[in-house]
Amino acid sequence: MSLSIVVLGDQLLDDHPVVPDPTDEVRVVLIESQKKLRSRAYHQQKQVLVLSAMRHYAARLRARGYTVDYYAAPSMSAGLRQHLIEQRPSALRTMAASEYDARQQQALWSARLGLPVEIIPNSQFLVGQHDPFPGSQKRVVMETFYRQMRRHFCLLMEDDEPVGGRWNFDDENRKPLKKGLQPPPIPRFEPDDITQQVIAEVKRSDHGVGQADTFAYAVTHEQAQTALADFIQYRLPLFGAYEDAMSSRYPTLYHSVLSPYINLGLLTPLEVARAAEAAYHRGEAPLNSVEGFIRQIVGWREYMMWQYWRMMPELRDSNSWGAQRLLPDWFWSGDTQMNCLRHVIEQARETAYSHHIQRLMIVTNFCLLTGIEPRAVVEWFMSFYIDAYDWVMQPNTVGMGLNADGGQTATKPYIASATYINRMSDYCQTCAYDPKARSGEHACPFNTLYWNFLLTHENQLRANPRLGPAVLGLKHLSADERIQIRQQAEHFLSHL
Ligand SMILES: Cc1cc2nc3c(=O)[nH]c(=O)nc-3n(C[C@H](O)[C@H](O)[C@H](O)COP(=O)(O)OP(=O)(O)OC[C@H]3O[C@@H](n4cnc5c(N)ncnc54)[C@H](O)[C@@H]3O)c2cc1C
Ligand code: SF4
Repeated sequence: MSLSIVVLGDQLLDDHPVVPDPTDEVRVVLIESQKKLRSRAYHQQKQVLVLSAMRHYAARLRARGYTVDYYAAPSMSAGLRQHLIEQRPSALRTMAASEYDARQQQALWSARLGLPVEIIPNSQFLVGQHDPFPGSQKRVVMETFYRQMRRHFCLLMEDDEPVGGRWNFDDENRKPLKKGLQPPPIPRFEPDDITQQVIAEVKRSDHGVGQADTFAYAVTHEQAQTALADFIQYRLPLFGAYEDAMSSRYPTLYHSVLSPYINLGLLTPLEVARAAEAAYHRGEAPLNSVEGFIRQIVGWREYMMWQYWRMMPELRDSNSWGAQRLLPDWFWSGDTQMNCLRHVIEQARETAYSHHIQRLMIVTNFCLLTGIEPRAVVEWFMSFYIDAYDWVMQPNTVGMGLNADGGQTATKPYIASATYINRMSDYCQTCAYDPKARSGEHACPFNTLYWNFLLTHENQLRANPRLGPAVLGLKHLSADERIQIRQQAEHFLSHL
């Protein structure tokens, strides 16, 4: 019997559960699908990352003695068919895809290709190894989920208690960037011959957002390890304090920029979390930062995967605020006078990266306040970000960012006026708009839109215990001011 192992492009695990030791009977199959690459305007640097990482992975397996069949095919199924014709395997084996559509397709392979296909469970996520709430139909809040994961994987635990006696150190975190601090830059990885070849191909294709030329992300397991070690040593100690800060000078601040690698399988979530935990035990990083980081990995990231599979396929059509507006064209160019949005969009065009608060409190905040249709927002996010995959984009964008899932993912809509943006960033200092004005010619649109949103949805928001206090702020608006805000918001929206 000859077995072919199909490794998907985002399953480049060093220790792949489906890949046995090399023998003459086993072939490993990797397929670049042109159909998938062209299905969206994927950022050129994301295209380079995925293709180069796949090609390096194939080379790595060959060096270990595997026979690897690598196809650049019009589609996944065309690649599989070509493999079947050329190699005539008696069976296929693969790991379940992370994404819903791909998993649906895998389920059809056996019938369509006419041979046995074994699909083993996905083990790329901790939640695939331990589901704290199996089959739950009830909403589980992230905090409850997170504590269960910490307990199960014994991360930052002393017996059954969290190290330091607390689960959460938010009161020490989330500060604006202190004057004079200069966050260290992230490491750049010079493209080798394989990556240069991919860059040339992607440039030639002229498809997608951004430019491939400046690509400097890691593409191998070793480079991803270097990126992890660099984060642990230089940025983790201040990660917690400044995880919500935004800066026009330092795009990555103290963030890890590890999502591109974890999402591809070049790093595993547990090794990343354990590396942070070990830094704490060595006394090299404080607890507020280490807990804050581990919360992102085993809390938010795993929770999003869990939510995705709980809510798909309905999640992608969710639109509980009934948002219908088109995404403005300038979202693709960044050509706007709103300094914060211009900055975030231009940065994402250049680097394919924004950190969490830029995505949440600038981009989706604006889209929620202006009522942009969720599918259009998802399309934009999928196109702009290096770490974008359906399993993580849908719950983050539709759920957390736009609160369009009826509050299943986040207990409140993440909306904010310029007061928040001004406190947490330096964007407002050089903006054409006035962050302090709610109405009038120079009033920041975030202010007008924020108050307009509260006025429009007052009753619904009042019922939410986490937003009630913000709605109470409406009582400080005079009748005239309410009318002015409404009119100004209407004018702004009609010119979007
Ligand atoms: C609207 C919106 C869209 C997003 N889209 C994506 C996406 O397509 N892909 C993606 O990986 N993340 C996404 N996120 C989550 C988060 O913004 C990114 O994971 C993070 O910015 C990646 O940068 P980093 O590696 O420097 O993260 P850090 O701030 O250093 O955080 C460490 C790690 O925690 C994980 N993480 C933190 N928050 C989340 C979260 N909410 N969901 C999943 N993982 C999380 C990531 O693996 C990240 O690398 C989105 C968030 C929002 C609000
Ligand atoms: S004033 Fe308003 S639009 Fe300008 S940067 Fe600040 S929040 Fe953004």
